[in-house]
Amino acid sequence: MESHLEHRDRVGVQDAVLLEDYTNERAFIENLQKRFKENVIYTYIGPVLISINPYKELNIYGPADVKAYENKHFFEVPPHVFAITDTAYRSLREENREQCILISGESGSGKTEASKKVIQYIAEVTERKGDIETVRDKLLVCNPVLEAFGNAKTNRNDNSSRFGKFMDIQFNFEGSPVGGNILNYLLEKSRVISQAPGERNFHIFYQLLEGAEEHLLDQLQLKRDLNSYYYLSNGRKSQHANLEDSTSFKEVERALTTLEFSETEKEDMFHIVSAILHLGNVGFTEEDGRAVIVKSELVDDIARLFKCDSEKLRLSLTQRTIETIRDVVTTPLDRELAIYARDALAKAVYDRLFTWLVKRINSSLQPNDIRRNSVIGILDIYGFEIFDRNSFEQLCINFCNEKLQQLFIELTLKSEQEEYEKEGIQWEQISYFDNTIICDLIEAKHRGLIAFMDEECLRPGDPTDLTLLAKLDDNLSYHEHYISHKKADAKLQKVMGRDEFMLIHYAGAVTYNVKSFIEKNNDLLFRDLREAMCSSSNNIIQSVFPESELRSKKRPDTAITQFKNSLNNLMNILKDKEPSYIRCIKPNLNKSPAVFDEEIVRHQITYLGLMENLRVRRAGFAYRRPYDLFLKRYKSLCKDTWPHYPGSAKDGVQHLVCQLGYESCEYQMGKTKLFIRHPQTLFRTEDAFQLKK
Ligand code: ADP
Ligand code: MG
Repeated sequence: MESHLEHRDRVGVQDAVLLEDYTNERAFIENLQKRFKENVIYTYIGPVLISINPYKELNIYGPADVKAYENKHFFEVPPHVFAITDTAYRSLREENREQCILISGESGSGKTEASKKVIQYIAEVTERKGDIETVRDKLLVCNPVLEAFGNAKTNRNDNSSRFGKFMDIQFNFEGSPVGGNILNYLLEKSRVISQAPGERNFHIFYQLLEGAEEHLLDQLQLKRDLNSYYYLSNGRKSQHANLEDSTSFKEVERALTTLEFSETEKEDMFHIVSAILHLGNVGFTEEDGRAVIVKSELVDDIARLFKCDSEKLRLSLTQRTIETIRDVVTTPLDRELAIYARDALAKAVYDRLFTWLVKRINSSLQPNDIRRNSVIGILDIYGFEIFDRNSFEQLCINFCNEKLQQLFIELTLKSEQEEYEKEGIQWEQISYFDNTIICDLIEAKHRGLIAFMDEECLRPGDPTDLTLLAKLDDNLSYHEHYISHKKADAKLQKVMGRDEFMLIHYAGAVTYNVKSFIEKNNDLLFRDLREAMCSSSNNIIQSVFPESELRSKKRPDTAITQFKNSLNNLMNILKDKEPSYIRCIKPNLNKSPAVFDEEIVRHQITYLGLMENLRVRRAGFAYRRPYDLFLKRYKSLCKDTWPHYPGSAKDGVQHLVCQLGYESCEYQMGKTKLFIRHPQTLFRTEDAFQLKK
């Protein structure tokens, strides 16, 4: 049989705090690699779970695995997403503390899969009876629906979430799930109108075309041919139907039924999806600088699907009305602007449909019970992004990650120090990098990057991306985390464009290109298009394009300000919950189950701040265990504690560690737990135990 030492050699340590040299990144990565090779994808840093995407089905999520983790102490069982979930669930029930599970990592690292495992575990360990059964079913089917509308194939991930989500599950006092709620963040709506080579539009378009019954397709005036739709083919003819699309469509239809969507609601949804597909095919020519619609009948079809006024829709695609203080001016659009208007409409309608969908699901998940419920929230949101070219979207995403990092630092350090205090352990202040300075650079009132961006976007006159950049450079170059082209050193200037600025994020330096910043931040939908939509009698369109929006004189918040507000709202929700962390890593860029690419992994470890995390964890005590559990495991190592120690567990442990020759600087006795400073001490004890066994 394999000895304990041999096992550790082969599979590595299950908690990185047990590594001898915790500052050594190589050793940290090697440990993950060893485990990955053995199909062991989970590792801890203290309470934080690291998960490496195996890119193959592992047999570790079955009913027996659920059983193995149910009601077990974290450290009695190997690391697992079920262990994290069980601990959170138990803390919710036993200590009545609200929980959140924060999942982060790059695209394709396994976040969404992890979030599904969390929900699966909760569904399986909670009681099944009456209403609760229905709630569980609903919770389980939210994902297929959200994924149909919010996920797409990208070059990084065949099923990539193109939105962030925070889902909470509400439990009654008995610990049974009674409801849920989803908050969605920043859907990548530009995907509706175009996709990078090799990527696809949102799944739902293909699912509908492949999976819908003939009569539905007829009703929607759709052909089962992907290449007929410009928004799917982008002028390239390489579209292939995916076998799964058809089955997924059936699954989505079933899920919508479980979620109690009415026939009309489904019909309204699919009409909108279909109208968007047709909209992409509207072409324009130009006569005397005016856009002319090529096939006018097509607009009639679209209007029928949108249930809106066809003449209004036609006009809104070719002209623009501007209301000034004095009068109303209508100007024709040229071809380029008409295309812009058409695409803006497609994006806006899809984006609002998605938000409607989330709200509609929420109303179906609303608990009947009005008593106060406690929640476990699950955050599945985009990780830090550094591409060759970074734009507005990356700025939003990376800002989000700065905020989450800030929360992470606050909460982990706080809980670490709280535990020491609770246990009466002496500890030293731990030093760490506080990224508040970067958050402030971005979001501070009046003098932060967002404030200057909005100021420029809303300024009368003709703001452009370059005047915006000049304003940022002028006002922010003093800041040590902001690098303008002018401020950059000679070497950096060579790689940095004149239309770029750089932010030094906690995870590294990122260069942002300001192209389209103004347009994306303004996120304007011409008034004429909104009016056309307001004329619709489709219930969904009516609710997402309310008349009041037309009447309102107030300009809506810019895109980044809306995002900032929703993030701050999220931070407030998370702040008073007890957090658990799942940090997801992908082992390579080729979706391969066999390759562990050290360089790729190293980058992610940096962006996730894992070495810092480990350092903080190790700054205090690597290992801590309640007295009774420590004594139970190791009592055989000393004749006085075997088979029973007559006194308290604490005294027993004190006796035991003295017998084992622990140095006094090596451990501290807390109120309920033993704290051990270095892992080697524990290893010696564990080895002795294994030998004796
Ligand atoms: P993310 O949400 O981080 O972008 P996903 O959770 O969608 O990534 O994972 C991408 C793909 O990786 C999944 O579609 C699946 O094929 C694979 N994958 C991720 N996690 C696991 C896992 N625990 N077991 C097996 N395959 C996984
Ligand atoms: Mg995802």
